[in-house]
Amino acid sequence: MTVRTRIAPSPTGEPHVGTAYISLFNYAFAAEHSGQFVLRIEDTDQKRSTARSEKAILDALRWTGLSWDEGPDVGGDYGPYRQSERAEIYQTHCETLINSGHAFRCFCSAKELDAMRAEQMAAKQTPRYDGRCSRLSAAEADARKARGEEFVVRMRVPADGDCVFSDRLRGDIRIPWSEVDMQVLMKADGLPTYHLANVIDDHLMRITHVIRGEEWLPSAPKHQLLYQYFGWDMPELCHLPLLRNPDQSKLSKRKNPTSILFYRDQGYLPEALLNYLGRMGWSMPDQREHFTLSEMVEAFDIDRVSLGGPIFDLEKLTWLNGQWLQKSLSDSDYIERLMSWMCSRGFFESVLPHLKSRVDVFSDAGQWLAPLWSRDVKLSADTLEATGLEQDTLTSVLQYLIWRLEALGSWSRETIEPEVRWVCDALDLNLREVMPVIFLALSGSRHSMSVFDLAALLGPDRTRVRLRSALELSGGISKKALKRLEKVYQDAITTSS
Ligand code: GLU
Repeated sequence: MTVRTRIAPSPTGEPHVGTAYISLFNYAFAAEHSGQFVLRIEDTDQKRSTARSEKAILDALRWTGLSWDEGPDVGGDYGPYRQSERAEIYQTHCETLINSGHAFRCFCSAKELDAMRAEQMAAKQTPRYDGRCSRLSAAEADARKARGEEFVVRMRVPADGDCVFSDRLRGDIRIPWSEVDMQVLMKADGLPTYHLANVIDDHLMRITHVIRGEEWLPSAPKHQLLYQYFGWDMPELCHLPLLRNPDQSKLSKRKNPTSILFYRDQGYLPEALLNYLGRMGWSMPDQREHFTLSEMVEAFDIDRVSLGGPIFDLEKLTWLNGQWLQKSLSDSDYIERLMSWMCSRGFFESVLPHLKSRVDVFSDAGQWLAPLWSRDVKLSADTLEATGLEQDTLTSVLQYLIWRLEALGSWSRETIEPEVRWVCDALDLNLREVMPVIFLALSGSRHSMSVFDLAALLGPDRTRVRLRSALELSGGISKKALKRLEKVYQDAITTSS
């Protein structure tokens, strides 16, 4: 058997370090077994998937130094590798499940489903689909479909007993069927949900080992059932522990930079990032901290992954990056890497318009570029205070801005500016009062290129980290005060929409 693993990202946002972590373990497992590693794009959620996010994910994963044997950009024998190009395959397989009685058409309207949920909640039951359409006769379901009634397709689930499935790291897991919902497999738009597409593709792409984050454990019973319904062998499952913030909560951009692009733009070495991710739940047999990808592959043993939540600690990663810079790069490599980070053509193309209007001699350029070349900005509480905003107002401005920008789908000067204006309106301040704070937070000075341009160039994570540091510097915000502020903020959102 040839080992085949895969990473199956959904292109709905910034490329996440969690995706690099799971990719790394899939890559190492396949490489250790001289197998193949596949990249598949799961873009069945048409509303949230974007080509831009797909490109960012592929670019970011390539930047880490990982490569894949098959994927939308490199082709392969089992393509297409983008789910949006496989709609017919899912349709046919879904029909098979309906014809064999393992799935049924559900005509319930949103209103009906809401009422069902409300009744179940009132009776203190877990809300789930009650199976009413599973009892329609085939003739009746066909007739309603022929009349043009909208429907989704749901899978049947056993009424009683337990589902037992096996996870390579956890052994047998038992979940009562009563906790498993009659999952929608095909949406009204004729596109599959994650569960259906994922199972069909893993089978057709001959995936032998599904190595993914533990947030997908609850999906395993549905997947196992689908494999049974189709009469297919199920790949071996292996759910890796989730990355955590230092306070043990699930790694989130609210507390830690999560985009791979942050690490690239902040000047981390991709080798150091992969090295650090390789230490998440796994360690070298000799406990060495500093190792290369090929050393990891050579020593890799997935059964040594430990299930305690691995902590993704920025300081530790930064230390490891320092080790890489000091010990693993020749002088010539060092210069090459530094130049490609600081002075690449791409970098200068992105900043050129801002320099042209401001620089008379090249020796002026450094001052404008300094905020982009720095890990953080030199700022003091006094300088923030000198903006004249009261402490509470200062906190609100920064926290509102963090929240607004966190929710921003696409990141550009054009999308950032209205958010800053929104914050001004919501807090009844004018732009002139607020701008100095943002200038200081992002650049450490009141004189920088336009803050909208600077934020656009810094990217979402670097911007957020700086806003958060400024917030802390201005005295921070207690948990209680944060809760209170969030309420007021939510009200402001309701009023403004
Ligand atoms: N598309 C899913 C994700 O975004 C894939 C989960 C899986 O690996 O099965 O992570």
